[in-house]
Order: sequence, then structure tokens, then C-alpha cells
Amino acid sequence: MMKPAGPTPVPFHTPHRAPGQADYVMQALRHGHLRPGGPFSRKTEAWLAAYTGAESVVLTHSCTAAMEIAALALGLGAGDEVIVPTFTFCATATAFERTGARIVFCDIDPATMMMDPDDLERRISDRTKVIVVTHYGGASANMEAIGVIADKRSIHIVEDAAQGFGSTRNGCALGTFGTFGAFSFHETKVVSCGQGGALIVNTDDPALLERVSSIVERGTDHARVKLGVKSFYEWTGPGSSFLLGELEAAILLAEFEALQENLASRTHIASMMIHGLEEAALPLAVIGADGQTKSNFHFIPVLAESTVTATHLKLHLKRNGIDSRQHYVPLHLSPRAREMNYGPAKLPAAEQAWGRLLRLPVHTGMRDEDITAFLASLEAWRITGCSKQGIGEDAAQRRSIRSA
Ligand SMILES: *Cc1c(COP(=O)(O)O)cnc(C)c1O
Repeated sequence: MMKPAGPTPVPFHTPHRAPGQADYVMQALRHGHLRPGGPFSRKTEAWLAAYTGAESVVLTHSCTAAMEIAALALGLGAGDEVIVPTFTFCATATAFERTGARIVFCDIDPATMMMDPDDLERRISDRTKVIVVTHYGGASANMEAIGVIADKRSIHIVEDAAQGFGSTRNGCALGTFGTFGAFSFHETKVVSCGQGGALIVNTDDPALLERVSSIVERGTDHARVKLGVKSFYEWTGPGSSFLLGELEAAILLAEFEALQENLASRTHIASMMIHGLEEAALPLAVIGADGQTKSNFHFIPVLAESTVTATHLKLHLKRNGIDSRQHYVPLHLSPRAREMNYGPAKLPAAEQAWGRLLRLPVHTGMRDEDITAFLASLEAWRITGCSKQGIGEDAAQRRSIRSA
């Protein structure tokens, strides 16, 4: 039986695959050093160090692991507070919470869906040790304003740049503004090796560098043995197994070498889509771009005038074969936040915005005809009056979360 003819499906994401990957993986299999720290790991790390200009970089198995290293290295524990934007992935909080520190949520600026510096100021107490900043959708948070607030009180900044690899702010790579930055190379991201990440260390404080080295050596001084200054290693502190394997590092090196083509392709696709969105005079705004960021266009976030409109557009695009997605339920509304009594109870900007947000797909698997189809379906939506019908389960679910 033939499938009925219909619009070409545009998935939300397809991972970029650099052509050199298979060759590098075969080379790694041949040299046979597959644990972390092999020849590809060293080359991939050197590439990343040169790209970021950071003091030191560590390849990890995930962005979450990179943030966990940061949390341990900063010596967080019970009695400390960590400020986290409420509109982010839960790993931004869990990586710090597991040290025993208390999470304090901060509201967002709906123009960017990122940390609102004015609200940040209100959340600071004398227990605040770290501010975690999430860069959203390939754009960047207001690092100048947040930097001033943090510097005044000597509070560390950690950047969750899971979505920001390849993006820059005023010419500097995201992940290089805080004491630490963390990238994700998970399959759902702009650059991926299946599962991977990196910690970017932007400090020359010898004590912190030493702690990072001991933490990633599973809490030992093994690094000294490798340097030949000691003949045996000992248990020295907290740590875990956080590093990236050699095969993933080989895949990642091929991806790094293809980064500019990957970004150019995404920029081409996203520019056409954003241009179409802005021309169409729809009841929604493209958010995130503030003129200081050069985005990797992880996806295009749009904020609709209402939850109903966002839900309706999502269903309309789906009928036209285009997959779009909503995003995070603000973390301060989560069961975990309620269980732990994490404050504050209300963050109005995030509560009003999250249900109106829709993410539109951008990936290198999209062809010009997919973009034409996307623009045509936006036009059809506009002509039919961006109909307000179509409130489905999603809206009902949101209402129940809001009233909980
Ligand atoms: C994907 C993502 C993470 C988690 O990355 P992993 O590499 O899967 O640990 C953390 N924070 C944000 C904002 C993300 O988008």
C-alpha cells in the first residue's frame, strides 16, 4: 500500500555528521587507546582550548558532568546558595544541588527567556556562592550586567552553555565569561558526538586548577604521577569518573573541524526563516537576538501573544509536516522545587511566558524546499486568521500546573 501524499515532514532535529568522523574512529580503533586521554582526546582538547582561548579545558561525558565538576571544585555544600534561572533544563540545578547547596530560582526577561539581572539582584543573599547562567537557544545572557552584580560581591559565575557551542557574544565564545563554562555535545545539540561535553576553565587560580585536576582523576593526585613528580597516587578529595572516551573525542574532532560549515548552513536556514517570520506580521515575536550575540541558531524561539496561539501554531505546523516544540516548565513550579521548598514561590515573568513559547526547528538536514514549505504554512496560518481554536491537552496540562 502506498503512503498517502502529504507535506514533507521536517523533524525537529537531525544531528550534524561531519564527513571525517568514520575515518577518525577507524584511526582510533587502530591505535587502540580507547580510554580518556588518548591521542584524539588530546587533539580535540587542544582544538577547544585554541577556539575558546581558555586557561584549560576538560572533555567530559556530558554538560551535566562538566557542571558537576564546577560545583565540586567551588567547594559548595550545605548552607550555600546557588542562583539558577527558573527557565532552564533541570540539569542546571541538579548539578549543583547534589553538593547539598540550596537552589534559589531567579526570574527571566521574556525578551530573551534568560536570567533577568534585576531579579538576580533581589535573589542574592550573604549565602550566595554561585550564579549559574543559562544561554538559551544559541543566544547569550546579559553577561555584562550579570558580571557587574557577581563581581561586586565576589560571587562565581558558571555558564551553562549547553546550547551555545559556536555562539559568540561581542566576539568572545560563550562559556568564557564565567569562572567555568560548560558545553554539551549530546546528540540533540548543534555539535555532537552522541553524548559528550566540556568544561571550560577560565581561571588561573592554582588552587582551583588543582581541584579540577584531582576531581576528574576520581579524587586522586594521579595527575602528579603522570607529570613524573610522584611515583604513586593517593586519594586526595572528592571526585568521580567524568571524562570523555577516545572514540567520542575522535568523532568530536571531526565535528570541530567542520564547525564553520555547520554554522554557515544553520545561519543560512535560520536567516531565511527569521526574515519570513518578521515579514509576515504574525501575533508572535522572534526572541533571543540582542545584537551582541552571533548565534549558532540552536533553534528559533518565538513567543506567541497567548498560550492558545502558541498551541494553535504548533498544531498547524504539525499538520503541515513541521515539528515544533514547547519548552521547559519553570523549575520553581516543579515537584522537586516544592518538595525542597526552594524559593521563591512566584516568578511572574517566567510563569507568564513559558506557555507562549514555541521552538522552531533549525538543522542542517533542512533543505531549501523545507524552508519554502515552512514559509508557505506561516502564510496559510496568517490568512486563516491565526485561528484561536485548537486548545488541546497541552493547554489543559498547563492550566493544571499553573493552578497546582
Ligand atoms: C542539553 C542541556 C543540558 C544537558 O546536557 P548533557 O550533555 O545532556 O548533560 C544542560 N543544560 C541545558 C540548558 C541543556 O540544553
